[in-house]
Amino acid sequence: MRKLFLVVVGLVLAVVGAYLAAGAVASPVIEITAPGEYAGAAIAVEGTVNTPEAPPVAVQVDFEQDGARTTVFSGTVSGPLATTITRESAPGLTIQSGQARIIVTATRRVWGIRDLQSEAIANVQIRLEKPRVSVVSTKHYINLGGSEMIVYRATPFDVASGVRVGDIEYPGYPAAGVTADGVTITDPDLRIAFFALRYDQDVNVPMQLFARDPAGQEATGEFDHLTFPKPFKRSTIALDDSFIERVVPAILAGTTEISPEGATIDQYVAINSELRQLNNARISSMAAESSPELLWGGQVFHPFTNTKVEAAFADFRTYTYQGKQVDTQVHLGFDLASFARTSIVAANRGKVLFADELGIYGNCVIIDHGMGVQSVYGHLSSFAVRAGDIVEKDQEIGRSGMTGLAGGDHLHFTMLVSGQMVNPIEWWDSHWVADRILRKLK
Ligand SMILES: [Zn+2]
Repeated sequence: MRKLFLVVVGLVLAVVGAYLAAGAVASPVIEITAPGEYAGAAIAVEGTVNTPEAPPVAVQVDFEQDGARTTVFSGTVSGPLATTITRESAPGLTIQSGQARIIVTATRRVWGIRDLQSEAIANVQIRLEKPRVSVVSTKHYINLGGSEMIVYRATPFDVASGVRVGDIEYPGYPAAGVTADGVTITDPDLRIAFFALRYDQDVNVPMQLFARDPAGQEATGEFDHLTFPKPFKRSTIALDDSFIERVVPAILAGTTEISPEGATIDQYVAINSELRQLNNARISSMAAESSPELLWGGQVFHPFTNTKVEAAFADFRTYTYQGKQVDTQVHLGFDLASFARTSIVAANRGKVLFADELGIYGNCVIIDHGMGVQSVYGHLSSFAVRAGDIVEKDQEIGRSGMTGLAGGDHLHFTMLVSGQMVNPIEWWDSHWVADRILRKLK
């Protein structure tokens, strides 16, 4: 009797011991990589379910919304987990816009006596309303290197939308951000985008409207447009020692971005190419700080008349030194010369984003006019404004000079549309502003 009792106790202890030992085996580890924060009608669930010894484990995926929980996947998984939840995933499953939970459960059976279960949850915002985009304005004419504006409608309210020209995206802004004479916009779905045809793009490059929601769902829309090629000037600049010996040390002293070695001409070429690229990237990055409001009220941009145009937009330049070609660059602005230290004014109302030394541009001011439109003033000898200042049209922002890569006292002026340098000549033309911009706003 006593012997039997001991055997029973021994067996019980063995089973309990085995059960406890089974619990010490690693539980499955679940990692969910998708969905992210948002998903559409088809919810991709991706991730991994792993154990150190990698036996297949039983996995169940549940979809839970408004208190209703439905199993949408069950099977065995060893490693990657990938399934897509749709209305067809389970009979009677409803998926609605709004908050939902994806619950992944993995169960590992250890020695046939104990289940080790892990659970992971992903919270996701379901968006069933598809983005929509459609053009409102008509007659879009775009010159090579020039700008254009479009009025369109995009829904739902929080889609990212705009114009795509080739692989360049120009963001649109709520049209409610427009304050201009004779313009009243109340439709909350209306958007405005300024866009450009870069000087180096094909005139037949595809252009379309887009609207993309946070779940990654995208709609596109066509709009009527005509593009016009523009001939750009080609010129040769012969570099001489007196010029490069003046500008190279001064520019290198003011930058930590490049430190070229070698002869002065090699350092010059590094400044003209590498530093130019870095400076242009810095200027382009200012687009992210553009105001969603049209800050300039629809007035034509100050045309800097009474100046001599020394170079125009998209001048293809070949640089020679001692009779040999050393570099080629495209000059993406106007060079406007008057007398030394002449007053330089803001071309239009806006906010100063930058007033500092900027490599080849020397002392440089960048003004944001809102909705991606900005203006750049280079080679100044002095500043009359600071970053953060609101400036009115024709307000002095500094004096002209020859800082940076400048052969003599002049203003380097250019316009930007969402970080792309565009021909300012259009913005100086009151007919262009009236027809291309104000007509569409009205
Ligand atoms: Zn210039």
